[in-house]
Amino acid sequence: MQTALAIFLSLGLGLFALPTKFPRDNATSFPSNSRTASTEVILLGTGTPYPDPELSGPATAVVVGGRVLLFDAGPGVMRRLQAAKLPINGPEALFITHLHSDHTLGYADLILTSWVMRRRAPFPVYGPRGLRRMTNHLLAAYSEDINIRANGLEHEVAGGYRVAVHEIGAGVVYEKDGVRVTAIAVQHGAWKNAFAYRIDTADRSIVISGDTRPSEELVKAAQGVDILIHEVYSAARLKPEDRPGGQDWPRYCREYHTSDVELGALAGRIRPKLLILDHIIRMGASDEELLAGVRAGGYNERVVIGRDLERF
Ligand SMILES: [Zn+2]
Ligand SMILES: [Zn+2]
Repeated sequence: MQTALAIFLSLGLGLFALPTKFPRDNATSFPSNSRTASTEVILLGTGTPYPDPELSGPATAVVVGGRVLLFDAGPGVMRRLQAAKLPINGPEALFITHLHSDHTLGYADLILTSWVMRRRAPFPVYGPRGLRRMTNHLLAAYSEDINIRANGLEHEVAGGYRVAVHEIGAGVVYEKDGVRVTAIAVQHGAWKNAFAYRIDTADRSIVISGDTRPSEELVKAAQGVDILIHEVYSAARLKPEDRPGGQDWPRYCREYHTSDVELGALAGRIRPKLLILDHIIRMGASDEELLAGVRAGGYNERVVIGRDLERF
C-alpha cells in the first residue's frame, strides 16, 4: 500500500512538475525533433556600436528544429527576432560573449519584452563573470515597470520576467537534446572574460567568435567547422582618429579585434566550409577591400560578408 501510494504520488508529482521544470512555451508551436532537424544560422544583427540604421546590434540565432539558441543580445534584438519570424516569447537559451554594451544593450529588451509577449518561465543565460550583477541591476532598474505590469491592469504572468543566470568558464556549458555549446576563452583587450562559442548539432558545427583578437584557442576549437562567424576590422583603413585619445585607436584595434588580413591567416589554418564576416569595423572599407584583406591573409575559400537577417 505504501509502495503503491509512493508510486502514485511520484507519478502525480512528476506530471505536475514537468511543465514548470522543462518550460518549452516557445518550442511547443514548432516541430522540435532536433536530432533529425536541419540547423540554420540566422544573422539577426551584424553591427558594431555605430548606430547604423541598417545594422542591428550583435545577435545570432542558431535554430534547430524550431529551437532557438541566441548568441549575444545587441540593441534591436527583439525586433530582429520578430523580423526573422522566430519566437518572441524567449529563446531556449541565451549565450553572451562578453559584457561590452554593444553586445548586451538588447538584454533588458529580451528579458522584459519576451515577458510581455507571454513568457512564463525563466530561460537560461550563460556568460562571463559579471553577468549576474548586470542582470540584477537591469531588473532593479525596471522594478517599477515590473511591479506595474505584474500587479496592474496588464496582468502579466507573475514572475515571467525572470532569467536563470549561469556565469561560466571555458568548456562545455550547455548540452541538451542533441545540441552542445562549448565556450572558448578568447582575448579581447582588457576584458578578463570573453568567450567565443562552438555549437554542435546533429548536422552542423558552428563557431561564433564574439569580439576577440586573433585567438589560438579559437583556431584549435574551430578546426574544420561548417561555419565560422568571425568579427573583423579593415587593416588597410586603420589609422589614428582625430579626437582626444584617438592616437590609441590602432593599438586598441590590434589588442581587441582581428583584422581582415589576420582573419585570412586564421581561416587558412581553421579551414571552415564557410567563413562569414560579422561585426565589421569598416572605417570606410568596401566589401571588396575587406575580401582583399582576407585573401591577402592567405585564405582563398568561400567567404561571405554577413548582413542582418541572412540565413545560412
Ligand atoms: Zn567588445
Ligand atoms: Zn563588439
